[in-house]
Amino acid sequence: MMMTAGKCAICGAGPAAKYGLVILGHYICRPCEEAISGLAWDDPRYEFYKSGLKKIWR
Ligand SMILES: [Zn+2]
Repeated sequence: MMMTAGKCAICGAGPAAKYGLVILGHYICRPCEEAISGLAWDDPRYEFYKSGLKKIWR
């Protein structure tokens, strides 16, 4: 059984957030995906998302 589409690897949102992408087997919900792609470098939240991505890419 494949149950990879679980919680968002960054914000922890459940599968209720249907849309998103899977990077290296980790699910990222749509809001996080959009936030990451639209986030400015000096946005305080950037660090938050970056550390979330680090958990995926390590
Ligand atoms: Zn998320």
